Amino acid sequence: MKEYDEVKRTLVAMLEELNLRLDRITNNVRHADTPIEKDFEEQATQNANDEVMDYLGNSARTEIDLIKQAVARIDNGRYGICEVCDEPISKERLAALPYSNSCIKCASQAGPKR
Ligand SMILES: [Zn+2]
Repeated sequence: MKEYDEVKRTLVAMLEELNLRLDRITNNVRHADTPIEKDFEEQATQNANDEVMDYLGNSARTEIDLIKQAVARIDNGRYGICEVCDEPISKERLAALPYSNSCIKCASQAGPKR
């Protein structure tokens, strides 16, 4: 699996970066260092902020899952192979999205739920 050593390093680095980001988001949501007392307007702003942070947290978690799966695929020799049709994923697509698990054709057909 020498071929993907470099990719694996990239993925692991992305994973560490995302975990750091997730930590920061989680701390922000918990208001670790902000006082609890707030007037109504500030509270509303804070709530809107929480929703954004929730969204960011969820997308970071999704990305972390995808990256972990990609690392597992490198380990079991399935990396770079489309999970839907078993065709190789193009190098261009892998370069743009190293944790991609489907080829461009399946990804464009899949739609949001599949
Ligand atoms: Zn495919």
